[in-house]
Order: sequence, then C-alpha cells, then structure tokens
Amino acid sequence: MVLVKSLKAREILDSRGEPTVEVELCAENGVFFAMVPSGASAGSHEALEMRDGEKRFGGKGVLKAVKNVNEVIAKKIVGRDAGRQKEIDEAMLELDGTENKGRLGANAVLPVSIACLKAAAAAKGKKVFEYVGELAGVNACVLPVPQLNVMNGGKHAGQENDVQEHMLMPVGAKNYAEGLRMACETYQALKKILKKKFGARGTLIGDEGGFVPPVANVEGRLELMAQAAREAGWEKEVVFALDCASTEFYKDGVYTIGDKRFSSGELADYYSQLVARFPVVSIEDGMSEDDWEGWQELTRKIGGKTQVVGDDLLVTNAERIKKAVELKAVNSALIKVNQIGSVSETLDAIVEARKSKWSVVVSHRSGETEDAFIADLVVGVNGGQSKFGAPARSDRNAKYNELLRIEEALGAKAKYLGRKFRG
Ligand code: PEP
Ligand code: MG
Repeated sequence: MVLVKSLKAREILDSRGEPTVEVELCAENGVFFAMVPSGASAGSHEALEMRDGEKRFGGKGVLKAVKNVNEVIAKKIVGRDAGRQKEIDEAMLELDGTENKGRLGANAVLPVSIACLKAAAAAKGKKVFEYVGELAGVNACVLPVPQLNVMNGGKHAGQENDVQEHMLMPVGAKNYAEGLRMACETYQALKKILKKKFGARGTLIGDEGGFVPPVANVEGRLELMAQAAREAGWEKEVVFALDCASTEFYKDGVYTIGDKRFSSGELADYYSQLVARFPVVSIEDGMSEDDWEGWQELTRKIGGKTQVVGDDLLVTNAERIKKAVELKAVNSALIKVNQIGSVSETLDAIVEARKSKWSVVVSHRSGETEDAFIADLVVGVNGGQSKFGAPARSDRNAKYNELLRIEEALGAKAKYLGRKFRG
C-alpha cells in the first residue's frame, strides 16, 4: 500500500519544443514524475490530446490538461493506493466518462497513471520493468530487438507524400547491448556516406534523430542503409523495417508516394517488390487507418514472411485490435501509451494482440521527452521489439540507455530474441 499524498501537473517542453504535460506525484515513499509524448502523424482514432487552442504556443499549450490534473483528477486520486493500478485507471476513466478521454484529455490521464505505477514499483522495492511484469503477469526478462529509425521522411522531415521511417534492426546480435552497438556503428557509417555524397545538407536530421538527405525515394534510402551496414561490417546482422505512415499520403482511395499514385492493391504489390529486393522484414502502416480491405490484401500478400504492423489502424485500442484479428488485417500491433491514455488499457491492448500470437512493438512518439518509461514497459511485457527512433538525441537515447541498465540488472536472465524477434 502506498498512498498518493499529492499530484501536481505542469506544462513542460517536448523534443520539438512544444508544450506537453508533466505530473509530479508525491507519495509516502518519494516523488515520482511522468511526462507525455506527442505524435505528429497521429491517427484519427487516438484518444484526445487536449490542446488549449489559444494564442500562446500557437494553440498548442496544455494548460487545460494541466488544470484537469490539478483540479479534477487530483481530487479523485489523492489519498488512494497507487498500487491499485486498475482501480486508479478506472476511476479516471469514470471521471472522464467519454470514449476518447475527450473531457479530461489523454495527456492528463496518462501521466497520472504512469506516475502511480512508478510510485507503486518503488514502494515494493522493484525496478519499474519488474513491476510492469508483475502487473502484466509475466516474468519480465526479454530485451527488445530495436527498430532504429535512421532515415526520417514524411511529416517528421517536413515532407509530403513520403514514407516516414526507414529503420535498422540488429537481429544478428547476441544481446541487446551488442545490437545497439551494431546499429550505432551503422548509423555513424551512414552519416559518413551521406556527408561525402551530399555535404552538410546530407546529415541534417528529422524529429526522431534520423537523417533527412536529399534522396526522395525509398529504394535510394534503403540502398544507402545497405551500404552503411556493409561498411560498418554488419551486413549479415542488420535487417530493415519501414513505417510508411500511409494515412498521411492517402486521399479518396489513392495513395501518393512522390509522383507515383497507387490503389491499395497496387501499393500492396509495390511493398511485395520492396521486400523481395531488400531485407525488409517489417512494414508498419502500409495502408491507411480505415482502409481495412487494403490491409487484408497486404497481409494476404506479404504477411506470411513479413511482419505487418498496425499503428494508426489499431491505436493501441483493444476493440480495434479485436476487429483486426477478425478481419486478419495485420499480424503485429504497435503499442503507444498515449494513443489510448492509461497503463491498464495499454496492457489490455497487448493481451488482446497476444491472444492471436501477434508480435508487439512498443513505440515512442515523434515528440518525446526524457521520460524512459516505455523502455521499462517493453521489457515488463516481454514485448520483444521496440521503436524508439535513431540512436541520437537524448529524448531517444534516454530509452536506449535505460534498456542498457535493464539488461545489466537482469544479467544472465536477460534474453534477446534476435532473428526470432516475432516471438
Ligand atoms: C509513428 O507513426 O509510428 C510515429 C512514431 O510517429 P508519430 O509519433 O508522429 O505518430
Ligand atoms: Mg507509425
């Protein structure tokens, strides 16, 4: 039992210099912080991120969400046992009373939910990942195979009609630390190649720390990544993943990448060719958030060999996951805590995905903070894969570094799935 003594929210800045919410929770055993990330290519079915819509910060202030924590949520949560995660989350859901956290804002509910979890972990003398494991009913010991976004495109790089993320996966490593090293060495080799080829403008970076060189097409970017892996000496160990974020380039039944236009079927064929030509083992948001038939076709065509990951399609929502299971729309779920807005509902989404033996990928947002909770989450649920951006900038490396600490703490018990990353 660990009583919440006080809750205070404040407006802080995220990695894009935009406002977000931080919660400071005082409990009998100490003070605990949680911060909220924010997406740029957010799905329309996500829980509500409450923004003030006033002049300050171009409408992006979060003082309304802050007020909701300080004046509404605090009344309900102060004095409760932070160790009763489900009750805490249910109390907030009841207080909100909407489907999408439209009254309080997911950015008010989520940091309270996470701060309670951290307080409860400390009260039990457990590390955060161990306590997540207890909540999820698993023996937490699996370090994720990371998907590292080394080339940023689309909204994260100020580009339109573009594939968003080009990622490395160090599947040939024997453990997470070695995998991270392989990825970093490949990232640095890529930087050298880009500098040589394009000069200083080749190594400008996007929101997630990946490069944004003047290479417009996916094939050109994957070729550069393959060259980097070769030059780093990790050609056999590193494979690739894409997040197309295709909702951003879909309109009225047509997908537009650069100057090419595709129907869902043609786009699925295009992806089939990409996975045949490059070692691309995972494609996220290949289809748009409501193009269920397109998703079914894509999974039919490439889902046998390739991981087909739903992000905007599923929005970490157990109900949408159930629908995707029924329709055989994907074979993997991306998990983002602020898409749904509480720890308990995030765990429910993971349980739902797991029932169908899907893989899960625990993900950051393009707007991040120094809060590394998602690193503890991915190990806590034995997630198997993470997506935390490039190994650059402290908003991303806070998570990679936390995973290094966790792997060290687990010692001989730590597992890394490597080529069996889908579980
Ligand atoms: C994503 O689409 O997976 C992503 C991390 O981007 P954002 O946070 O902008 O939605
Ligand atoms: Mg995505």
